[in-house]
Amino acid sequence: MKKVYLDNNATTMMDPEAYEEMLPFFKEKYGNPNSLHDYGTQTHKALRNAVDTLYRCINAGDMDDIIVTSCATESINWTLKGVYFDKIYTGEKDHIITTSVEHPAVSATCAFLESLDTKVTRLGVDGDGQIDLNELKNAMTDKTALVSIMWANNETGTIFPIKEAVQIAHEGGALFHTDATQAVGKLKVDVKDVGVDFMSFSAHKFHGPKGIGGLYIKDSIKLTSLLHGGEHMGGRRSGTLNVPYIVAMAKALDNATKFIEMENVHVRRLRDKLEDALLSIPDVAVIGDRKYRTPNTILASIKGVEGEAMLWDLNKAGIAASTGSACASEALENNPIMEAIGADVELAHTALRLSLSRFNTEEEIDYAIDEIKKAITRLRSISSTFAYTPSWHKSGL
Ligand code: PLP
Repeated sequence: MKKVYLDNNATTMMDPEAYEEMLPFFKEKYGNPNSLHDYGTQTHKALRNAVDTLYRCINAGDMDDIIVTSCATESINWTLKGVYFDKIYTGEKDHIITTSVEHPAVSATCAFLESLDTKVTRLGVDGDGQIDLNELKNAMTDKTALVSIMWANNETGTIFPIKEAVQIAHEGGALFHTDATQAVGKLKVDVKDVGVDFMSFSAHKFHGPKGIGGLYIKDSIKLTSLLHGGEHMGGRRSGTLNVPYIVAMAKALDNATKFIEMENVHVRRLRDKLEDALLSIPDVAVIGDRKYRTPNTILASIKGVEGEAMLWDLNKAGIAASTGSACASEALENNPIMEAIGADVELAHTALRLSLSRFNTEEEIDYAIDEIKKAITRLRSISSTFAYTPSWHKSGL
């Protein structure tokens, strides 16, 4: 049976070059980079090179910090809780602004800080999943400590106007964090250009290993540490460094950055082909204007087809897709992004997310199109809601 992986916003296959590059650091090059003997200096050099690559790929400057963490969730928790300790707990500020469509790493951390009496404003989104910068301007107060807006949404792929949002936050005296987990490796990410203060990312979203990520900190801004201990990473994040994963993350990001143009041409073309095929089926809608989406993502709503049932059929055909964020999938609840963009309950149950990578081929997409069409025909034929809704029914699909 064919196997087609179209769930790259959940996680990606490892870049084979990144995989090969990390292996020696599990075997002969296993020294602690902080040790002074040859084993240590060998890994220390590899570590330095890897970190230099990370700086180059996101255009960070010498005065900035990139701190390696275990994942984006850690980077996000650190930023939000660190700003809480530095600005809100001290009584200087009392407010955080975020959006209603953030990943739970941000939304659950904001809810936790709310339980500690932080005021939290959640910006709404329109039917395309886009925020309104005027709403951000109006939400700013002189007590706003932090604005946290994702660079690109994990479900819809919607790209947010980060540069403009940073300006508004800074004019109001607030710091700015972006969760760039779905942007790094897919879009050109230039931290100097956009001017963010903090940026979180995870390697496994750009063909690196799982369990490694980073936090960019502009001008080495003060941020109370989450992990206290030894002097690793300048004392900002303690814990012995995972050199193999750091080396692999850097190689994966280096390759992803080299392939950004390809992402925008090859991946976009395959995504558009798949999207056009979906849209040619009656009563299928795709959320958000494709011009303002990451080039690999489609969030479709297929009337009369339960998202979970669709996944079952596709899985049987060897195709991996998602109804939305993998982190929410065990709950079998409505897709929260669909709810935020104002979709009704029926539509919110029919979300199908397809997310590609540069490793997908045209043949795979052609196969996926055929199988998706078959699944829609089968599931609509047994759907009571679809059968009883005349305008949906007339398509014959
Ligand atoms: N932020 C976004 C937008 C994501 O898509 C994800 C993962 O799905 C995360 C944060 C969390 O990443 P990790 O699980 O690697 O910490």
